[in-house]
Amino acid sequence: MTVTLEPDPLPLPGHVRIRVRACALNHLDTWVRRGIPGHHFPLPLIPGSDVSGVIDLSDSPDLPIGTEVVAAPFVSCGQCAACRAGNDVGCPSYAILGENINGGCAEYVCVPATHVLRKPPNLTFPEAASLLLAPLTAYHMLHARARVMAGETVLVTAAAGGVGTAAVQLASRAGARVIALVGADTKREAVLALGASEVVVLPRDGDPSAVLKEALGKPAFDVIIDSVGDRTFEASVRFLKRFGRLVTCGATAGAAPTLDLRRVFFLSLSILGSTMGSLPELADVLAMAAAGRLKPVVHSVLPLAELPTAHRILEAREVIGKVIVEP
Ligand code: ZN
Repeated sequence: MTVTLEPDPLPLPGHVRIRVRACALNHLDTWVRRGIPGHHFPLPLIPGSDVSGVIDLSDSPDLPIGTEVVAAPFVSCGQCAACRAGNDVGCPSYAILGENINGGCAEYVCVPATHVLRKPPNLTFPEAASLLLAPLTAYHMLHARARVMAGETVLVTAAAGGVGTAAVQLASRAGARVIALVGADTKREAVLALGASEVVVLPRDGDPSAVLKEALGKPAFDVIIDSVGDRTFEASVRFLKRFGRLVTCGATAGAAPTLDLRRVFFLSLSILGSTMGSLPELADVLAMAAAGRLKPVVHSVLPLAELPTAHRILEAREVIGKVIVEP
């Protein structure tokens, strides 16, 4: 294999260059690495969506050189109707770092100055990087899509993962009762400490319906925050109450579940899709973290040179929180 070194990138007008101090990984990174049939990734591509670091080249008076920052995991134009409505994902220029444009598994990354936020001073660089794509996704799912209300019961699947650890905390902060689904008993204490009221353990070879029936008895959920897909979808829908909402942001365990439509119409259920979130929502996430109301959950921090190991850790599904690399 021939390895070519990329020259250090130079920022376009209106952009800044960040010297990367930490980059958090997401399951997205492993999809990008493996490729998705029928999906085009622009190659060569630097992976990594969640960047924290220090401004290193800038002509923005608001972001002088040396400012400690995070980059939004996406870019958008900020001008179009979708952006103005807070639906950045609908922007014609929308692109995700590490998927559509170069990301943060590198020494430098250039991004629009408009998509850079100050790093909360109480967080380390790895902690700040851990609070971007996944917590933003969880925030948008719970608030913009499910419109969760105090007193409701929320199931979070893969509750020890990146989206899960944030969703447990955010739902609990919203006054909901949180039931956390995890794959191993070793994750129980960590998820309870984040605010879950109850933890249901679904072993790797366990039957999701039987496990939920034993734990809950009857339909119990107003909201399901799901990033798993096939493995838990059918069973979790069976435990949605009338007017329940299932929000899906990923399919790490299969993307073609079966769905009994009779339950959907008899019970007025909603099945909602969700991708990422908006810049104002990311500012809310970081403000909560700055105030100590949302805790970073960092599983491990590795040197960037050990990126293959970092991917393997993530794919082994034994993590609690985020896997981070440092250049
Ligand atoms: Zn736009």
